[in-house]
Amino acid sequence: MCFVCDQKVGRRRFLQLGAGIAAALAVGGSALAAGGPVTSLTGDQALAKLKEGNQRYVSSPQACISDLASARAGVTQHQAPWATILSCADSRVPPELIFGGQNVGELFIARNAGNMADTATLGTIEYGAAALGVPLIVVLGHESCGAVAAACEIVEKNSNFPGSIGTMLEPIIPAALAAKGKPGDFVDNAVRENARRTAARIVSASNIVADLVKDGKVKVVAGRYDLDDGRVEFFG
Ligand SMILES: [Zn+2]
Repeated sequence: MCFVCDQKVGRRRFLQLGAGIAAALAVGGSALAAGGPVTSLTGDQALAKLKEGNQRYVSSPQACISDLASARAGVTQHQAPWATILSCADSRVPPELIFGGQNVGELFIARNAGNMADTATLGTIEYGAAALGVPLIVVLGHESCGAVAAACEIVEKNSNFPGSIGTMLEPIIPAALAAKGKPGDFVDNAVRENARRTAARIVSASNIVADLVKDGKVKVVAGRYDLDDGRVEFFG
């Protein structure tokens, strides 16, 4: 097949996929169009499972507690993740590990520096909630976040950052401004404020998520991961 044919087929497949997603969203967030059953967990049950996994990671961390090959085989045709995690790209904050070795097919994850909900991330979260039936969305900030620290530096010292980094940091600045002058550590307060604000923004900026929250089908929470002791604290 020539390059042009490849492009045509690719475009046709893209349009078909788009129609499938539109159909999934049009039926009120049902995951039927995504091709199979969704998790039976509620948002509260999913949150309890994350807490339990994090406790396991804190008390007896092991890199591989899961049968990865078996799990992979079980999700080749279909996925039914039970929690969406929006976390920082920081290499020290891998969601599957810090939540106790969650396996292939369990967590739906979006990551970027500063755990922000830009358009691509918001669309990812909406797809997880509406098409895949994920009942829980966690915005996970973390101790000593470099992106949040940089936003604090902009607020305190009017620093400039090159390339797209400065633009990327702009949405974090309101959280840094809100945290400035508060008792305690400036960056850590801003990390918490940023996670809280991002969780709120996901609901306020997305009618899809807002409707699912209103119907009790989706829960949105914020959290902070501690680099020292490995604990995740949930709030808001
Ligand atoms: Zn970070």
